[in-house]
Amino acid sequence: MADKPYVIDEMISAKAIAARIEALCREIVSEFSDTEKLVVVGLLRGSFVFIADLVRELDLPIEVDFLEASSYGNSTESSREVRILKDLRNAIEGRDVLVVEDIVDTGYTLSHVTNLLRSRKPARLKTIALLDKPSRREVEFRADWIGFEIPDAFVVGYGIDYAQRNRNLPFIGKVRFTEPAS
Ligand code: 5GP
Repeated sequence: MADKPYVIDEMISAKAIAARIEALCREIVSEFSDTEKLVVVGLLRGSFVFIADLVRELDLPIEVDFLEASSYGNSTESSREVRILKDLRNAIEGRDVLVVEDIVDTGYTLSHVTNLLRSRKPARLKTIALLDKPSRREVEFRADWIGFEIPDAFVVGYGIDYAQRNRNLPFIGKVRFTEPAS
């Protein structure tokens, strides 16, 4: 599957992403203006570019931690079974936490991760996703902040991969296979 030929059509430009992040950060700063120290949790690996741009726009005292949940592997379909591959380094009890995700698709990953983190009793737990595909939802989940709603398409770039490739594209692009599936 991963070696089927494809092209990438630009969907969201680097400029549009940067402008949206600025606007989102104004809202996040106002939500957490009273925080002692915000723990910004990036979900590896797809959110690494987003979290890097996001934290540099957050004029707040922050700490950064990472969590890795199982994802699509080399396929374009969700496994629906979420496993934690790498847990947080630090405890979050009593802390203000912002979970940063690249895409909400079926909803399984963020609903599993937020249930897990909520069981650790943070003071506040909020979520932000750069992209949301509401038409693909299988379990109810809504992030507190969303960058862009997109249609049902498989996307890459800005940290998001297809079989570990294309993470370094500065924009979000849609994968278009150039040969029919066999
Ligand atoms: P969910 O559990 O909501 O179905 O999926 C969330 C995860 O699936 C995302 O963090 C991302 O890793 C992966 N995912 C969902 N849609 C896409 C997509 O269009 N492209 C890529 N590369 N990964 C996706």
